[in-house]
Amino acid sequence: MDTQITATVTLNFDIPEGLDAQVQRARIEDDLGRLYDADSTTGIACTGFEVDAIKHPSTSRIHFLCAGCGSPDVRADAYAAWDVEAGLWVMHSVYDDKSCEKCGSSCSLIEVDEATGMEIQAFAMVNEEDGSRQAQNGETPAFYDVMVTTNPASEGEIHTLHELDDLNHAQMQKAIAVMQDTYLLAPVTCHFREEVQ
Ligand SMILES: [Zn+2]
Repeated sequence: MDTQITATVTLNFDIPEGLDAQVQRARIEDDLGRLYDADSTTGIACTGFEVDAIKHPSTSRIHFLCAGCGSPDVRADAYAAWDVEAGLWVMHSVYDDKSCEKCGSSCSLIEVDEATGMEIQAFAMVNEEDGSRQAQNGETPAFYDVMVTTNPASEGEIHTLHELDDLNHAQMQKAIAVMQDTYLLAPVTCHFREEVQ
């Protein structure tokens, strides 16, 4: 006697631009049907599928940062309620008290949209007698810095979410890639011209 179970999976599709939603759904269903027709080699049988939801890439992602230090590592007081189906405590309601894990104190938060309110920046730097400065055109950089900052607020205040210093060229490229993965919608500005090899 077989038992029927349901697996919830996420499938990612590359879709040509400009298809309307109905056509997108029809093509996804056709493609899944093609997979579903394939013979099982594991002794189980897929007996049907249903497309529950199609999620489109978002154009806005909101971050909350500590207004004091800019850290994204913030917490909100909340109540949880027991969910019998999930077998978990799930969030019920969020309260006004917020705290920062970095400052270790209660704080107020600022809300930043990743697409319009923050930027990934890379700088080429040279050493000077007492410190360092940005490399000018034609100067060979000694190291690179990568920062993720908020755009200036109305009071001109800028918060730094990440600062990675003293990177070589490969580390700088990797740091930008990691930050782009984390802040998918934030624009990247390189404040230097790459030398043409
Ligand atoms: Zn803080």
